[in-house]
Amino acid sequence: MQKRFVYCDNAATTRLSPTVLQAMMPFFTEDFGNPSGSYKLAHHSARAVLSARRQAADILGAEASELFFTSGGSEADNWAVKSAAELGAQSGKRHIVTTAVEHHAVLNSCKYLERQGFEVTYLMPDRFGIVSAEKVAAALRADTALVSVMLANNEVGTLMPVAEVGKLCRERGVLFHTDAVQAVGHIPVDVRSLNCDMLSLSGHKFHAPKGVGALFVRKEVRLPNFIDGGQQEYGRRAGTENTAGIVGLAQALAESAEGMDERAGRLRTLRDRLEEAVLSLPDTVLNGHKSLRLPSVLNVAFRGIEAESMLVMLDMYGVSASGGSACTTGSDAPSHVLTAMGAGAEQARSSIRFSLGDDCTEEDIEYVIDTVTLCRDKLSKLSR
Ligand SMILES: *Cc1c(COP(=O)(O)O)cnc(C)c1O
Repeated sequence: MQKRFVYCDNAATTRLSPTVLQAMMPFFTEDFGNPSGSYKLAHHSARAVLSARRQAADILGAEASELFFTSGGSEADNWAVKSAAELGAQSGKRHIVTTAVEHHAVLNSCKYLERQGFEVTYLMPDRFGIVSAEKVAAALRADTALVSVMLANNEVGTLMPVAEVGKLCRERGVLFHTDAVQAVGHIPVDVRSLNCDMLSLSGHKFHAPKGVGALFVRKEVRLPNFIDGGQQEYGRRAGTENTAGIVGLAQALAESAEGMDERAGRLRTLRDRLEEAVLSLPDTVLNGHKSLRLPSVLNVAFRGIEAESMLVMLDMYGVSASGGSACTTGSDAPSHVLTAMGAGAEQARSSIRFSLGDDCTEEDIEYVIDTVTLCRDKLSKLSR
């Protein structure tokens, strides 16, 4: 077996696209002007930010004035959740509905709000990771300020019925936010058909650089400002624009929109091949929904094996995968997503996520299959 390097952790972050880097380069070099300046050099930057905003908004079905660039997905989530709560509190609404399987950027923002006296309902998913619209409907109260339900889960890839939840919230007059960080750039995302008031996205999950993201805020929603300061981002998120990052985000979004269906189909085929082979190994279980799932994600429990040991061994063979999300690595608490889905702590600790990227080949997948088979074999002999 010839050693290869196969990166299977694209849900954690992706490689920067070379053409995205190219589009960004001028704003690190000659076009360094502050977009707020009044001279030509500044106008270059201002124009680049404006056209990036228009281009990105257009792809998402939003208006340019509804898109606010942030430092990433975590900031967008914090802004949406905390500011919607602040808005709700102005009319005495201090209840929030979310799910137990959200990213920590949403969950820990909710924890913060609980310390501020808000009440939060964390809805449990079914065993596939889905929280139904009916479940959300049943949790709504007269004092519900916000519902936040993610579009695609970052650990198992399961897709939530967000358009349905959004429709319901609109009817009931409750603000609705969706964390679409795992979905944008991978599956079609249109803010209007999702019926959302707010939507978070992050560049580095679709081949833009780390440290840039955006929050869509529907124009009818007067969401309080998140960072006070200058007039950047319509005065609602101050701070000198990350010009190069913003340009990169729009470029990457445009690249990902091009031929999306074809790429998704190819990834799904590769993922399904990996899935079939891995699930044919003894004592393996699929985590997540079989079909309502991102095409690139495969999360599997290897019963009786510690994911940590398996990941170290896979890494020695050049395969990068992960247990749960990047954000939980380093803590030995079992995944909050898998446990909410009803997996025991043991199953959660034996689960590994493979998330494929566009540069993945059939040979890569065969190599991953061979490597996983080998590592599982070795470890199951050790544990016996
Ligand atoms: C990665 C991720 C985030 C955080 O985005 P950053 O840009 O890394 O802050 C939030 N939500 C989900 C679902 C994610 O996968």
